[in-house]
Amino acid sequence: MAVEKTLSIVKPDGVQNGHIGHVISVFEANGLTIRAAKLAWLTTAQAEGFYAEHKGRGFFGELIEFMTSGPVLLICLEGENAIAKNRELMGATDPAQASDGTIRKLYAESKGRNTVHGSDGGASAARELRYFFAEAFEFC
Ligand code: ADP
Ligand code: MG
Repeated sequence: MAVEKTLSIVKPDGVQNGHIGHVISVFEANGLTIRAAKLAWLTTAQAEGFYAEHKGRGFFGELIEFMTSGPVLLICLEGENAIAKNRELMGATDPAQASDGTIRKLYAESKGRNTVHGSDGGASAARELRYFFAEAFEFC
């Protein structure tokens, strides 16, 4: 296993419902280190660019509206096997399918309002970290 970096986002529902602290403590308790973090209120253009791979899907408009509905916490995580570990801690996209104890099982309301984002592979992690942390890319 290799030390990797990945992007996590605490989505607007997670920030509004007061789950930032618990989400970060789950990461730290599982060997993931916070290398950089910032609170941001995404513009429509930023959210559309971030989720460009989903453009054209039926849920795209709803996704962009949700992701721009309030502040999000952008986090650069680092650790052994960080990309897969973060996905495991998050749980499945649909909270009804998520395993017990995962962040989405605990807090997600629906497939759309599902509390956290995590990069799904090495290429997306690199792209997503550069997208949001261009100014600090040497650290994260
Ligand atoms: P994940 O976030 O688990 O990687 P995807 O990359 O498939 O999932 O989708 C990105 C985000 O788009 C999801 O986290 C969710 O917020 C939203 N989304 C995906 N599928 C649906 C859907 N069927 N209905 C509403 N929102 C969806
Ligand atoms: Mg995804």
